[in-house]
Amino acid sequence: MAPLLHPDLLFPAEPSARGIARSLYAAVKDLPIVSPHGHTDPRWYALNEPFPDPARLLIVPDHYIFRMLFSQGIRLEDLGVPRADGREVEQDGRKIWTLFARHYFLFRGTPTRIWFDYVLADVFGIETPLTEATADAHYDRIAECLASEDFRPRALFERFNIEVIATTEGPLDDLRWHQMIRDSGWTGRVVTAYRPDAVVDPDFENFSENVDRFSEITGCDTGSWNGYLDAHRKRRQFFKSFGATSTDHGHPTAETANLSAPDAQALFGRIRRGAGSASDRRLFRAQMLTEMAKMSLDDGLVMQIHPGSWRNHSPSMMQTFGRDKGFDIPTSTDYVAALKPLLDLVGTQRDLSIILFTLDETSYARELAPLAGVYPALKLGPAWWFHDSPEGMRRFREMTTETAGFYNTVGFNDDTRAFPSIPARHDVARRVDCAFLARLVSEHRLREDEAHELAQDLAYALAKKAYRL
Ligand SMILES: [Zn+2]
Repeated sequence: MAPLLHPDLLFPAEPSARGIARSLYAAVKDLPIVSPHGHTDPRWYALNEPFPDPARLLIVPDHYIFRMLFSQGIRLEDLGVPRADGREVEQDGRKIWTLFARHYFLFRGTPTRIWFDYVLADVFGIETPLTEATADAHYDRIAECLASEDFRPRALFERFNIEVIATTEGPLDDLRWHQMIRDSGWTGRVVTAYRPDAVVDPDFENFSENVDRFSEITGCDTGSWNGYLDAHRKRRQFFKSFGATSTDHGHPTAETANLSAPDAQALFGRIRRGAGSASDRRLFRAQMLTEMAKMSLDDGLVMQIHPGSWRNHSPSMMQTFGRDKGFDIPTSTDYVAALKPLLDLVGTQRDLSIILFTLDETSYARELAPLAGVYPALKLGPAWWFHDSPEGMRRFREMTTETAGFYNTVGFNDDTRAFPSIPARHDVARRVDCAFLARLVSEHRLREDEAHELAQDLAYALAKKAYRL
């Protein structure tokens, strides 16, 4: 039986380019992992408890997995995905696992297939493909691993060679798990990131209560515009004291605005009273991106903008299962006009770092690479979400490098909730970058020594530099 992971995975088929890719990869494959943006749960590192059963670890929380299965007629209840009304869903991990195994063929050709095989092989030492016939044996093997000390979160963190990982928390989070990690004396470096959507986006669930709570937590009067801004400043400092080096903003669009102080104040008043129209709410989000950029200039936090996802696209699924259940769909996204108010104000600042992401690949060459290729404040985040795949990462390099170069990009983000898949995701990114560089070398567009330097930068150095880690 062929091993689950071929050593030449994702390398060029043509022998001379493949040889170059192999040599580039050999020099970067064991570099430490820098994970500057992601969604792992800091509670895991704080409590260091064993992970739950294989299904609850690898299937139930993974929206890449259950969205595909759902698209093929499998009920989320049968995959153990909790319902908002608390009604019963499948609890038997082995049943969930077997159902998944029976349908694993659906993932052929997808990055999920590569990540999942990688986790089976590399993390759990499994050498045979997952099928209905092997499902039980693989389940037992993983469950046995998870029961041992070597598979506790901190042990895996160390085995994965993670130098630093960022989690993402909202402004109302008390960061208790981060506090507990710090108090424990464990040396693993886990930092937070400030994601204020819950108090910045008037369309966020419970926005008004959230802003009230924001006031209680910070002691600032969030009934006034200036008090509200002060609350952000204070909270950003608090997050910085837990190692945060970045903020993150998940907005429906990249729209920014630069209102006069009286206009911003009046807009805030309408929003706060719940009297804002849809266009007011849009304008408020836009203004807040600019406010966050101004604060970044003062406190040095790197700003990430993740726009263009139509979140929770299906109202009935949102109602039954809640948010983040695989129903986030990319929209076409404008940057050139949308970012202009912000760029007019701060785009030429050399001390500011704004990292742009997109779910709209048509914007890479047309908008994003030209913008990041000239504005010092802008950098391009790696291929994101639906495009965080071998083809997506290749397209990102192909469509941005000629205009923005490599050094206006920021290395890789795994952006994952799935802790065991972190090495898989970084390894795929390293392999794709090495394959891309090997092509440039074999076409005599880059010397091999330059490609070696770049491979190191893309795998490690650029992420540390861009995120100030
Ligand atoms: Zn993210």
